[in-house]
Amino acid sequence: MNLGSHLSIAGGLHHALEEAVEVGCATLQIFTKSNSQWRAKPLTDADVETWRATWTRTGVRNVVAHDCYLINLASPDEALWRKSLAAFRHEMERAERLGLESLIMHPGAHVGSGEETGLARVAQAFDLLHADTRGYRLRVLLETTAGQGSTLGRRFEQLAALLARVKDPDRLGVCFDTCHVFAAGYDFRTPSGYKKVMREFDRMVGLDQIRAFHLNDSKGELGSRLDRHEHIGRGKLGLEAFRSLLNASRFRKVPMILETPKEGGMDLVNLRLLRGLRE
Ligand SMILES: [Zn+2]
Repeated sequence: MNLGSHLSIAGGLHHALEEAVEVGCATLQIFTKSNSQWRAKPLTDADVETWRATWTRTGVRNVVAHDCYLINLASPDEALWRKSLAAFRHEMERAERLGLESLIMHPGAHVGSGEETGLARVAQAFDLLHADTRGYRLRVLLETTAGQGSTLGRRFEQLAALLARVKDPDRLGVCFDTCHVFAAGYDFRTPSGYKKVMREFDRMVGLDQIRAFHLNDSKGELGSRLDRHEHIGRGKLGLEAFRSLLNASRFRKVPMILETPKEGGMDLVNLRLLRGLRE
């Protein structure tokens, strides 16, 4: 099991590493900058040095980043698309500099231009980004989405289409968010449902593409397309789905990251619950 959580970088990036150790996380997700602003203070050499030294000292296994919520690489609006492209390149630079293995992103929203046009926009963006960042170790992970509004990534087919269109798909992978996949309409609440959904994912995208999981229960019902995370076992998805996932030997080393609400030390409760599901 490679369990962890999304932790805050308030007070400096390296604080997230310290907190990861306190909570007992083997793996960690961070925003490398504010997730609700375009701009960021540039990383200084000292920031990077402190980050690397703290990482070595704490022995956290994996660190992944999540991109800023304003970025939309599927946008039909030329100005916003350009702005998103620049901001995403910036996110890639920061993550690479910090030595992170992956940067998780939402594929974007087509905002009425249609699924096809949206997917083509995202693929075009990745071709440009890949050309600009040759030699990077960093891998970008497309996150499965709940499909709220016109967001792409709700159907496994859409992820497959993106991987097929990008010139260099080896630089990409997938982050499987349990809440989103369930809210998008895939029912894996029972062991047989889990098998069926994973078989479908394997057929469409390939299970090897899954390089991270977001472990969240869902406030919304199956197929609600609501992106609302709930504590493990307290939502509509339920514990059995997590039991299936945590006991799948093929995912044993894949980072599994909580994105559940932080109130009242709930990370400790959720992590303990998840560990208890391992047979
Ligand atoms: Zn997520």
